[in-house]
Amino acid sequence: MVDVPESHPRYESLLTRHRIEDGVEKGITSQQGLIAQGRGEAFDYLLGEETIPSADDAARAAAAHLLLADHAVLSVNGNVAALVPGETVDLAAATGADIEVNLFNRTEARMQAIADHLRERGAEEVKGLTADGRIPGLDHERAKVDADGIGAADVVVVPLEDGDRAEALADAGKTEIVVDLNPLSRSAQSAAVPIIDNIIRAVPNVTAHARELRDADEDRLQAIVDGFDADETRAAAERAIREGTLQRSD
Ligand code: ATP
Repeated sequence: MVDVPESHPRYESLLTRHRIEDGVEKGITSQQGLIAQGRGEAFDYLLGEETIPSADDAARAAAAHLLLADHAVLSVNGNVAALVPGETVDLAAATGADIEVNLFNRTEARMQAIADHLRERGAEEVKGLTADGRIPGLDHERAKVDADGIGAADVVVVPLEDGDRAEALADAGKTEIVVDLNPLSRSAQSAAVPIIDNIIRAVPNVTAHARELRDADEDRLQAIVDGFDADETRAAAERAIREGTLQRSD
């Protein structure tokens, strides 16, 4: 991994790029993952590369949903595995959620490489390899999930997800938490809880909220869920991107 000094003004962005490059080299991330990262970076730049207050509210609502869930699953694709593997394992531990590898461009080699990468960071069980369930409304390859994983989940976290699959999961009646820097993407639009933030910041932030809410009773968690407004969250992010007061960096 290339050494980037923390004092560099674009430290986090450069670190992110290196993690994705490294993911491609290790066979974890697909080449399309590089393009997805570039799209995300542009939105993050316009957001000021920070967690805006509406994204923090969404992270808290996501934590409340995960703690209330009967069966929550964190879906991991190649970009998620490259960018936040250990942070995903921490979130699963803080909320009792399962981890499932779920790829748009599914190959057995990549499924296995990602599962191994997560296990090296402490994941005890990684689902997704059985693929004995299907999400209705998607073609065969894209529809594959574990029947006792995403197939049986009531709450799913789907970061950086393709729009078709995000819509199909929502249509299947799952409460969907999406992490996506584009508030206008179909994934963000179909989410019950859209977290418009960089996954590098969002996942640890949901974990921090979950730890803080660990002893909260059901009524308190339900009040957080009920008080969350997904449309207002998307609108706040869009406003920040369109009207933001970003300063020139040169
Ligand atoms: P949709 O179909 O949902 O409209 P898409 O399938 O065209 O979107 P992709 O090009 O697959 O989207 O990119 C995935 C999404 O992930 C993009 O909306 C991008 O902004 C977002 N994204 C990429 N990197 C990150 C990141 N590090 N954190 C959060 N979101 C990201």
